[in-house]
Amino acid sequence: MIDLKRNSKKEPVKATGLRVRETSSYKPNQTYDFKISRGRFSNFLTCKRCFYLDRVMGLDPPGTPGWTLNETTDLLLKKEFDHCREHQIPHRLFAPNGLSHVVPFDHPEMDNWRNSLHHGLMVRHKDTPIILTGGVDDIWQDTITKKLIVVDYKSQAKNSAVDPDEYLEDAYHDAYKTQMDFYAYLLLKMGFDVHRTAYFLVCNADRHKENFNQVMTFEESLVPYDWNAGWIEAEVDAMVALMNQHQIPEPNESCKNCAYSDQYAKAVHGGGNGESKPVQRRLFF
Ligand code: SF4
Repeated sequence: MIDLKRNSKKEPVKATGLRVRETSSYKPNQTYDFKISRGRFSNFLTCKRCFYLDRVMGLDPPGTPGWTLNETTDLLLKKEFDHCREHQIPHRLFAPNGLSHVVPFDHPEMDNWRNSLHHGLMVRHKDTPIILTGGVDDIWQDTITKKLIVVDYKSQAKNSAVDPDEYLEDAYHDAYKTQMDFYAYLLLKMGFDVHRTAYFLVCNADRHKENFNQVMTFEESLVPYDWNAGWIEAEVDAMVALMNQHQIPEPNESCKNCAYSDQYAKAVHGGGNGESKPVQRRLFF
């Protein structure tokens, strides 16, 4: 997509492709703290090269517009669940899903844990300067076992109804499972007892209505997921090792951005019309 760099007055300014703040980049073997969010960890899993260019070399990749409609469902759900949290009562979705014994977890840090930009769940990785963070959507609590239940809200608009048995089979939803595994890992490391089943609260917009008429309706589904945090630590070790090296790792061969940059470099720098000499990936390194 085309992403223009703009100043605080929203005026287009020259894009450099580099981050301005030096502290937003990690220096190999640095000794002062450096935060890695759940999203950056997912980037590491998807493409080690892009992760390295972003976190270590300070490249400023093109962004995407905010998902404001999705954020709005999150915001409104948060209000509903906060009401139940305040009164320690089950949410209206709990009884129909066999969760009458569950309430939203009440903890003084909840707002910080949900603040993915500035806080989130936080854990230092071993004796490294790396602080792992993750802004969780919500945490519920089993009132019988006192275990915490990790929750993520998802909004979508698909023609077919959500089938909880198939929802996580979708290859596009693999990252959702990683997300839950990571949050469960952080909570465990923070010393909490975490219920083995997490939940996605999926809100699916109804595309079959006759008209809009200022209202969009959603079908809500709770999709259970038995998380597995056992693989996270080894991957974080590998991520930290990568951050401490000086060599740029290989790209992800399936990435359309890098394929585009190859073609861009050939077209712009190599003469075009199929007569180009190979100039590889100018856009990305
Ligand atoms: S393959 Fe290239 S553009 Fe794609 S994520 Fe990796 S470095 Fe970035």
